[in-house]
Amino acid sequence: MTDYPSVSFEDRMERTEFRVAERAHITVDGDSCRGCTTKACVVACPANLFVPTSDGGILFNYEQCFECGTCYLVCNTEGAITWTYPDGGHGVVFRRT
Ligand code: SF4
Ligand code: SF4
Repeated sequence: MTDYPSVSFEDRMERTEFRVAERAHITVDGDSCRGCTTKACVVACPANLFVPTSDGGILFNYEQCFECGTCYLVCNTEGAITWTYPDGGHGVVFRRT
């Protein structure tokens, strides 16, 4: 089995460029999130883009998204997350030099 070196959150973000599109490629329905007991997206998102609010909702920001799809996989509430890829020429660019 391959051992991968651990990369800090700061390193991960530092090595990544985001070409931000005007259109949000992921949207989150805050009303659906209010009834969610797991808030799985909060710990699963490697870019820390899901932030719980004091009223039980979720704040979400698409701009630094890795497009990994993890949030969509872990969310068990139908319709809470709408996931598409960013428009052409936009989105994440790994390994900035
Ligand atoms: S996005 Fe899904 S997992 Fe995250 S808080 Fe909303 S309903 Fe829960
Ligand atoms: S696709 Fe990945 S990086 Fe983007 S919001 Fe979902 S979990 Fe976070």
